[in-house]
Amino acid sequence: MADKADAVVIGAGVIGSAITFELARRGRSVICVDAGDGVGAGSTSASSAIIRFHYSTYDSVLTAWESAAMWLDLVGHLGIEDPAGMARFVQIGCLVFDFPGTNRLEVLSHFDAVGVPYEELGAGEIKDRYPTLDVGDYFPPRSVDDPEFGADPHGEVGGYFTPDAGFIDDPMLAAGNFMNAARQNGAALRLRSKVVAIRQHRGAVAGVDLASGESIECPIVINVGGPDSSSINALAGVTGDMRINHRPLRQEVFVAQAAARFGMDEGTIVTDLNLGTYFRPHLGGTLLIGGTEPDCDPLEWVDDTADFNVHPTITGFERSVYRAARRLPAMGIPSRPVGLAALYDASDDWVPLYDKSNLAGFYMACGTSGNQFKNAPMAGIFLAELIEAAERGQDHDTEPVQVRGARTGQTIDLAAFSRLRQPSLTSGTVLG
Ligand SMILES: Cc1cc2nc3c(=O)[nH]c(=O)nc-3n(C[C@H](O)[C@H](O)[C@H](O)COP(=O)(O)OP(=O)(O)OC[C@H]3O[C@@H](n4cnc5c(N)ncnc54)[C@H](O)[C@@H]3O)c2cc1C
Repeated sequence: MADKADAVVIGAGVIGSAITFELARRGRSVICVDAGDGVGAGSTSASSAIIRFHYSTYDSVLTAWESAAMWLDLVGHLGIEDPAGMARFVQIGCLVFDFPGTNRLEVLSHFDAVGVPYEELGAGEIKDRYPTLDVGDYFPPRSVDDPEFGADPHGEVGGYFTPDAGFIDDPMLAAGNFMNAARQNGAALRLRSKVVAIRQHRGAVAGVDLASGESIECPIVINVGGPDSSSINALAGVTGDMRINHRPLRQEVFVAQAAARFGMDEGTIVTDLNLGTYFRPHLGGTLLIGGTEPDCDPLEWVDDTADFNVHPTITGFERSVYRAARRLPAMGIPSRPVGLAALYDASDDWVPLYDKSNLAGFYMACGTSGNQFKNAPMAGIFLAELIEAAERGQDHDTEPVQVRGARTGQTIDLAAFSRLRQPSLTSGTVLG
């Protein structure tokens, strides 16, 4: 006999766990199934877990600011102190470097509207505060084999700083915290349980079939399959009306020795579209370094998530680490690549999809585009609200669900994350 639940969440990453938690605490019987053998072991475990607020759209800034309050008081938000330990929000601020065509004015107007504190900094002020940073204007980002790569800067750049930004010290533990809180609220977790079919009856979700041959009957399924979520949407047959597509994109993140005076105590997160890099101090006196998809770098789209190069490459290493070293010349460059390769689930406009679908009972939280770890707490609330609205008979496609943020009292219009939206005007990069 098949198991039964009110809802099945596919995927136990940080967002799947947050959705499982939010549904369970609202009194639903929820089963979270994951093909892997650990909570948060998918792309969540590879996350740089940066919590920052500069996004191109008001709704995204507000979502990140609201979520940050929940990360700050995770015990209060979850209502439990996890015996496995609690993930910690380390607030070291974030410095954003300018570049020609920067959306700084729009972002700062969103900060003003939402109430995100920030400081505008000239090149000299950046230098005073972070003497180890080079404030050269190197735009545009170049590939390492470009003869101009090592050229002198053609001026100096300023930027802006948000003191409340930071990172979560252990992203996998954070997913575990949400899942343990969900289980305290009665949710069930099934690892090593791959969904291979979405059951349908009379145009609505009826359950899921697992690779083991078992089934779970349920009227609600939420696709939170990370880089596999486009395949799961295809499996459910819901892609027909989607105006925004999303697919797996390979990424590399490297670890290097932090520069003197740019560690956890004196450093900050840096996002830098001027050079095409981001980096942040990490535990153990190291730096995490990633890229921001500049035009000169080819994008590595992946067709089969079970078959991609999981090892960092020399090319990616040189590209990321040498760019970061232009901004932070005193950093230690390792003699060989140390880091990881993982997958984003990148959407056309780098904005996520938190939405229903054209199949009754089938929902999606995907297209997270390398920038939604931070928004897991609000993503849980979004999906719970979407489900409750549908049960009240509200059609989100024509009457978009609005979610009021507890921190600001301001309203997030979930149409911003709809599969039917026109592509949002964003930076067209992981920064959203
Ligand atoms: C390298 C990297 C750096 C990042 N840095 C940041 C950052 O600094 N800040 C930020 O905010 N965001 C960042 N992100 C993005 C963020 O980590 C992701 O958006 C987030 O972790 C996605 O969580 P998830 O729960 O949606 O998916 P995942 O963590 O990918 O989990 C999906 C789960 O679904 C399971 N699954 C897939 N198919 C099936 C199936 N058929 N049946 C059952 N289970 C299935 C998988 O096993 C997996 O466990 C980064 C991402 C990457 C890859």
